[in-house]
Parts: sequence; C-alpha cells; structure tokens
Amino acid sequence: MKRHRGRGGEGLGYRDEDPRADRWHGALWMRVPTARGKGRARLGGVHALRQRQCMQHLRCQICGEETFGRSDERYLWLVAGSELLREGEESWSPPVHDSCAAEAVRYCPHLRKSHVATLVDTPRFWGVAGLVYDLQTLEPLPGDSEDGLMHISFADPLLRWTIAARVVVTLHGCTPVDLDDLVVAGV
Ligand SMILES: [Zn+2]
Repeated sequence: MKRHRGRGGEGLGYRDEDPRADRWHGALWMRVPTARGKGRARLGGVHALRQRQCMQHLRCQICGEETFGRSDERYLWLVAGSELLREGEESWSPPVHDSCAAEAVRYCPHLRKSHVATLVDTPRFWGVAGLVYDLQTLEPLPGDSEDGLMHISFADPLLRWTIAARVVVTLHGCTPVDLDDLVVAGV
C-alpha cells in the first residue's frame, strides 16, 4: 500500500493496482477478508469483493441471482433482530428473493429466532464500510462499529484514506412485511 495521487488529490493506493478489481466509486477495495495490524476488521466471513459484486448488481445474498423483476418493482431486505428498518437506514447486506428469504429463516437459527423483512422502494448507493487510515502514519484507525469498520459516504474526503470492505446502501420507502404473507402471495 502507498500514498497515491489521482483525480481528486492524494489518498491510498496499491503499488500494483488493478483499477477494475481494486477500485469502485473511487474507493480502494480490501484484497483479503481481514486486514492485518491495528484496527483489525472482524468481517465475520464476509468476503469484500464478493459482497461488492453482489450489492453492485443487487443480487440475492442467498442464491446470487439478480433480484430485479418483482411485480411491485421493490426489493426485499431481510435482517436478523427485531428492530424495524428506519427510512434512509444504512445497510451492507444485499437484498433477497422472497423464496430465498423463507428458506434462510427456515434453516438459519439466528434468523429463526427473530428477523425483520422489509420491502424497499429504492436502495441508493451511499458509501462504504471500511478501515480508515491515518493520513500521517498510514496506520488504520479504530472503527466505530462492533465489526471494527467505519461507514464513510462517497462524498466524504476520508474515502480517499479508506480501504473498503463493503458497499453500503441507504434504504428508502421501507414497508415492513410478514414473510409468510409474501411467500403465499407470490408477489
Ligand atoms: Zn435468491
């Protein structure tokens, strides 16, 4: 890793950077699932490039196929826990198909315990979750979330000093739904 000067000024870069694989929306992408050193990210098995490819094309996080084409032109989000998604909520978990969501809830004990399903009118690409590096020392700074990552918007000047591990979208037009109703209705 090195200091790099590109469009928009100075930032982080790889010595042997491949612009297609290593950069997206101006953000430098993490090459391995976990980063070494201080501020170590706990990525919980989420592979940085695969998550990006999935989210970039709004593919289903269960089966990997595209989620376009619902008759109501919306997207289904499934998250563990009981808290409803807020309008404009930031999320790094990709959408799911109705049938894949039903299957995930059946087989994943974590989701079976509690989950919230939400129909989303518009997911917007907002920024990344990643490790932010100190401009002077080039050491990673501690993250502000439990996975050790910081959420940085595409407009934030710190994006140039971030190694991104996940694409973050904001969710707009959120309607909570009961998964059973959805699967029965076959929307
Ligand atoms: Zn699916």
